Amino acid sequence: MAQGPIRRSDVELVRERARLDEVVGEHVTLRGAGIGSMKGLCPFHDEKTPSFHIRPQLGHWHCFGCGEGGDVIAFVQKIDHLSFVEAVEMLAAKYGVQIQYEESGKGGGDRPDFGTRRRLLDAHAIAEEYYREQLGTEAAEIGRRFLTERGFDREAAERFGVGFAPEGWDSITNVLRGRGFTEAELTASGLVSAGQRGVYDRFRGRLVWPIRDITGNTIGFGARRLLEQDKGPKYLNTPETAIYHKSSVLYGLDLARKEIATQHRVVVVEGYTDVMAAHLAGVTTAVASCGTAFGADHVKIVRRVMGDSNPSAGLRLNTDGRGLAGEVVFTFDGDAAGQKAALRAFEEDQRFVAQTYVAVEPSGMDPCELRIAQGDQAVVDLVESRRPLFEFAIRSAIAQVDLDTVEGQVTALRMAAPVVAGIRDRAMRPEYARRLAGWLGMDERTVLRAVHDAARSEGRSGGRHAETVEPPSGTRPPEEDEAPALPVPRLADVVSRRDPVGQVEVQSLAVMLQAPQLLAEAKVAALPDDAFHVLSLQGVWDVMLAAGTLLDAVTGALHPARYLEQVLEIAGETVRPLIVEIANLELPARTEPALEKLGDSLMDRLTELSITREYSVLKQRLQRTDPSDGERYQEILGRLAQVQERRRSLRGAGD
Ligand SMILES: [Zn+2]
Repeated sequence: MAQGPIRRSDVELVRERARLDEVVGEHVTLRGAGIGSMKGLCPFHDEKTPSFHIRPQLGHWHCFGCGEGGDVIAFVQKIDHLSFVEAVEMLAAKYGVQIQYEESGKGGGDRPDFGTRRRLLDAHAIAEEYYREQLGTEAAEIGRRFLTERGFDREAAERFGVGFAPEGWDSITNVLRGRGFTEAELTASGLVSAGQRGVYDRFRGRLVWPIRDITGNTIGFGARRLLEQDKGPKYLNTPETAIYHKSSVLYGLDLARKEIATQHRVVVVEGYTDVMAAHLAGVTTAVASCGTAFGADHVKIVRRVMGDSNPSAGLRLNTDGRGLAGEVVFTFDGDAAGQKAALRAFEEDQRFVAQTYVAVEPSGMDPCELRIAQGDQAVVDLVESRRPLFEFAIRSAIAQVDLDTVEGQVTALRMAAPVVAGIRDRAMRPEYARRLAGWLGMDERTVLRAVHDAARSEGRSGGRHAETVEPPSGTRPPEEDEAPALPVPRLADVVSRRDPVGQVEVQSLAVMLQAPQLLAEAKVAALPDDAFHVLSLQGVWDVMLAAGTLLDAVTGALHPARYLEQVLEIAGETVRPLIVEIANLELPARTEPALEKLGDSLMDRLTELSITREYSVLKQRLQRTDPSDGERYQEILGRLAQVQERRRSLRGAGD
């Protein structure tokens, strides 16, 4: 570790005073693991069983999963992305150690990048205080009314630090300038926007909620539009900064952290007012993602805080009836979009899904509205009425059908059986099949057989459960700052690393997205519209075809970056994350010629695979066709010959 300019004896004092279990405990829920040792889920790699150990007496931590380790300073450096000096300063402040610097004795304040994070946090603390004060002013009347109408009194506003950003262009800008912040620091803070004539306030005429990190530092703001003349989005958040990363920020986590760890439950709501309403109503485990969907990074954080630990605990119940592994309860408003969103959760890590619950208010109210209409207890009851996500998804699927008729029952069974068959945890399938029988009013054995058949046909086609659920069509992409609260699909869930065909398909898409200009035009042009076997990847291919400009990118007429932009622009919200992941996939080629060669062979492999598939489909069809049906039989024979010919010529060209 590089020696900082802080006096060595002060660094040692910080190391001595800082309590490792306390510091780590702010990020990881720890439990005893033998004498003098505690463990939890590693915050530095994604894991489901704890391999992150700390020894508070020794002041040392180590992860047996990823190999990271060190002392309390190293932990703070790594978790908060701080320099050594910054980490020591932060711990010194927390544990009341006065530090002195070796150089010049003036302190480090004149070094240019001194304590960037500290400066940004200071700017936010000042801004928060300023906004809070503004909420009491005459101009903030509209903001206070907004809060009152939603059932929040003055005390509630103070508890959550709600403030008001005045309408002017340079209110917070001037406050911060007056406190010695430079233009560069203002810009880096995200509190201002940069225009042609310099910087100006980002939040104007809005109610602002301080967004805090897990330890309670304010790192950003969410701001609600109040004025009619405000043409901005309804909610405007801090942009990505050195300290604010929306993919890993959860509003309310600082307040909910301890309760989440104690109750092994987290309630995910949709907005700032919902978090407030939930906490005030007594649901003290509520959080919300800010301006983005509840994603993989949020899952990791939530797991860590819940102390989610026992991999086999998903089915067992605690004494109070809750899963040992912890519950994640999503609240949705009851409309169809919410239900479709829920179905998409099938594409997430199924162990996470197995502990995921959905609470829907029948008349479509969110927790804030519900609290106003029916009081605190109604919010508590809503959360308690949660249903397992699987059940919610299955019941949503069959809700569209009239179960009073036999036709309806059969249709519903046909819709729901693949959903049950798609549950990767086989142990759960029979139980859900039984419940499905109950919901449908059908015989258990019939339902079990249907599930079994669906599972088998799925295995044959290689399709995945995710596609057995109708994908949301025509849903608009989520608007920035209007957060739907659901996980997004990951490539690893869509195609196994050990599936050779899937890997050829993924890599083919990766080359086409990353380096189309290296591919042979004729080969790309010859790819069939249904070239992909893995359905989610075919979904990506569909989008690429729909963009209509792949060949332009191949010939070099269109810049690859532009092409990717076009594809992402038209991609639906389910496919987009996959495309982004594939576009960033690391390919096994280190040089451009190697990548060109790889791309060429991938195009051949992809074509060959699709021809082989077509061949076997035709072959099967031929076997099923009665030879006495001469015309049809001949037609299939003819097509088989064509496919064979294509395969032969491809093999020849490959030599
Ligand atoms: Zn680790």
